Amino acid sequence: MQCFLCHKPISGRYINAMDHEWHPECFVCAACQKPFDGSFQLHEGKPYHAACFHERFSPRCAIGGEPIRAAYLQNDWGDVYCPDHAKDCPVCFSCHRPICQRLTRGGVAYPDGRAMCNQCRKTAIDQPERGAAAVALVRRTLAKHGIDLKDVHVPIRLVLQPELDALNSKRKGAKTCGMMRSRIFTEDKRVVKRVVEEILVLRGLPEEHFASIMAHELGHAWLFLNEYPPLPDAVEEGVCELCNALWLRSLAATPSALRRLKIMAASDDAVYGRGFRAADKALQRLPLSTLLAFVRHQRRFP
Ligand SMILES: [Zn+2]
Ligand SMILES: [Zn+2]
Ligand SMILES: [Zn+2]
Ligand SMILES: [Zn+2]
Ligand SMILES: [Zn+2]
Repeated sequence: MQCFLCHKPISGRYINAMDHEWHPECFVCAACQKPFDGSFQLHEGKPYHAACFHERFSPRCAIGGEPIRAAYLQNDWGDVYCPDHAKDCPVCFSCHRPICQRLTRGGVAYPDGRAMCNQCRKTAIDQPERGAAAVALVRRTLAKHGIDLKDVHVPIRLVLQPELDALNSKRKGAKTCGMMRSRIFTEDKRVVKRVVEEILVLRGLPEEHFASIMAHELGHAWLFLNEYPPLPDAVEEGVCELCNALWLRSLAATPSALRRLKIMAASDDAVYGRGFRAADKALQRLPLSTLLAFVRHQRRFP
């Protein structure tokens, strides 16, 4: 009998593995080059200690960096991590990544309790001026679809969550990230002027999130300025989420835009999710202008 590795004769103890005979010291792990004291694991025709196999081939925990052996979690971005590490990390308000050094280079806590990762912080809109370019682009994009705010000036104010929640009493429970505030001026009970007073957006959102909120709120502004009748919540929000989707779809499939579209399409919210799906389904059959004219007159989706 001859050892498959060293070709020297074998006398005494030997290992029979992979259709060959080996000296115990010649049959070694392809990773650490040490012999086995029992079982081994094959990978692409090479033997490994179980631990060495995991060390080399298992996915790494995106938080702790260790090889993952058992059940792991995966987020929208394809990061995998172990539940034990995930439970110690705050979740980013915008991208939902677990905030940690390895994955997001840390993050910050906002005064209203929101956690924001340092990836999202890179483009965070802390002053309205920093969002101006994004807003201009959103407005141009919507205008191309006929949702044109022309040269109407829309002031933007960045606020913290409690202020937004207090003003947004209509939608109790559901936390929103933005809000359009309008006023109708009347004389002798006749409407003389409609004014979009301001759009409120949560302070410190990353630019992609801020722009997506703006696309939605500009939809409200457009409906208001174009004197749409009061619409059922799911119809109004459905139209505005459709504006959001038109914007996101214009972004040439960036990962963050695709992720937001996926979340919108899967939302189980009776107003936002259902409204959006009804609007989007109608848009597959009809031009947007026809859809909007129908909504104006029927106060529902075709
Ligand atoms: Zn040998
Ligand atoms: Zn080994
Ligand atoms: Zn881990
Ligand atoms: Zn983030
Ligand atoms: Zn809305």
